[in-house]
Amino acid sequence: MKNYFFKYLLCLGISILTTIPAQAWGAKGHRIIGEIAKRHLKQNVSKKVLKILKDESLAMSSTWMDFIRSDDSFDHMYPWHYCTIPDSSFSFQENLTPKEGDVVQTLKRLIKELKSKKFKDGDERMAVRMLVHLIGDIHQPLHVGNGKDRGGNDFKVNWFNQESNLHKIWDSEIINYQDLSYTEYADWIDKDIFWVESLNDKSIINWALESKKIRIDGLYPDTNNLNLSYDYNFQHIETLNSQLLKAGFRLAMVLNEIYG
Ligand SMILES: [Zn+2]
Repeated sequence: MKNYFFKYLLCLGISILTTIPAQAWGAKGHRIIGEIAKRHLKQNVSKKVLKILKDESLAMSSTWMDFIRSDDSFDHMYPWHYCTIPDSSFSFQENLTPKEGDVVQTLKRLIKELKSKKFKDGDERMAVRMLVHLIGDIHQPLHVGNGKDRGGNDFKVNWFNQESNLHKIWDSEIINYQDLSYTEYADWIDKDIFWVESLNDKSIINWALESKKIRIDGLYPDTNNLNLSYDYNFQHIETLNSQLLKAGFRLAMVLNEIYG
């Protein structure tokens, strides 16, 4: 009996370990973006969106695309969370988009489908959930990768002496370090919004190019100091917050346009 119980625990442990999804902006980052978007929706749009999402908030629907990573029938969606723009390239080269698609191509398609109400994958609810998630992802600077280190996942660093990697630092470590709930975080950064540069830019390619610019502009730490902590937070928190804010505002802008 004891032996059986031990085996059961072991199997449970293994299945938990293998199904933890690789996150893009951690859950909190995505929820902050959904919460900010909610605050900038027109009233009638807000009602329509809530109905489509079956009363699930934008914040809570934002992480659906990461949760489904545990189900292999959604594996074809994996490349839709990111795209590649090499360091030396100052334009978006469509020929680098893999045949499975990338975040730029998928966002363009989703917006088109939501306008025409003709959906390739699933229904309107699923398309909105994907839109919320992917507008978030494209604003995470390391989701626009250089094509060499899997969006910083292979760039190992420490975060306050704990092993981590650069992708994770930007997905969740810096955000979690602020120790705020997603609504407190949205309260903190969703102000003086019209001072944020290029906020109203509707071009998805420009969003990707902005992320790439942040990526090559001092985001990679010096290789002789890979134990990141207070300084790295201080140097990058403003940029990170402005990306969260832009993502939230632009998500609202897209939804207002589709449903307004
Ligand atoms: Zn993602």
